[in-house]
Amino acid sequence: MRFFYVRTLGRGDTHLADARHGCGPEVVPVCDPRSPFRPLNRTPLQICFYDWQPCAACLAAHHEPTPVRHLAVAR
Ligand SMILES: [Zn+2]
Repeated sequence: MRFFYVRTLGRGDTHLADARHGCGPEVVPVCDPRSPFRPLNRTPLQICFYDWQPCAACLAAHHEPTPVRHLAVAR
């Protein structure tokens, strides 16, 4: 499950990342896996407090459409 982690209090600098499993203080943002950061929030956020908080790239990557499954009709 993915949660929001605050990198800075700047606009759009709260990123989605997979939940930490106790293996370190850093999280890996969905929008840039090569740039892990140490979040300001200790508790992962399920929702952001303000509309301007979330990173647009993370939201776009998180909501990519899943492939359509074609169902066969048997008669
Ligand atoms: Zn992001």
